Amino acid sequence: MLIVSRRRFFTGLGSLGLSVSLGVSRAFADQDDNTIYLTFDDGYVGTLEKARALSALGVAGTFFLTGQAIEWHAREVQGAVDLGHRIANHTYDHPNLTRLGGDQVAREIQRCEDAANRVLGVSTAPLLHAPYFADNAFVRGVAGQLGYTSIHTNWDTNDWAGASASYVANRIRSGVVTMHTQGRFTVAALNSVVPQLVAQGYSFGVLG
Ligand SMILES: [Zn+2]
Repeated sequence: MLIVSRRRFFTGLGSLGLSVSLGVSRAFADQDDNTIYLTFDDGYVGTLEKARALSALGVAGTFFLTGQAIEWHAREVQGAVDLGHRIANHTYDHPNLTRLGGDQVAREIQRCEDAANRVLGVSTAPLLHAPYFADNAFVRGVAGQLGYTSIHTNWDTNDWAGASASYVANRIRSGVVTMHTQGRFTVAALNSVVPQLVAQGYSFGVLG
């Protein structure tokens, strides 16, 4: 049931009529497609727990981790990589990028990428998730120059804030689903709803 698909993601963009030029538009997946992209932000705690839960369910996820979290929890993050999950860029130390100058924005993205290269031997490009969903045309332009696209979300589960398993499960739908490595009831939500969605014909894709 694991579908690693870059093509379908970009097909989804095209069918929404959005520009796919890097960095200019936010990227959305097409919600009419029966593909669900499970994403997990941050990485300061819980990365391997979430990665193992996904693997046990036979699906893969995209982990938007900070460079700091990659450095501080190298073994745990490596475990997620070894299970086949994708690592993507969530800046170095989780600032609000809209409050930074261009050099600082670039440095935040590049330091996260450098950590992934050095610690894990993988690249985070071309996927950026701006902390707090905070980006703008300027930030997207800087990201684009570095080869990154700011990925927005279709479904924000609020799992980081302690949302219940049923609340989170109800937001796991077609498109990009935002969850967090530290989400307390996230695994319970995944365990309850992913088998049902698979049975209903949904696919689970990894952003690429
Ligand atoms: Zn975050």
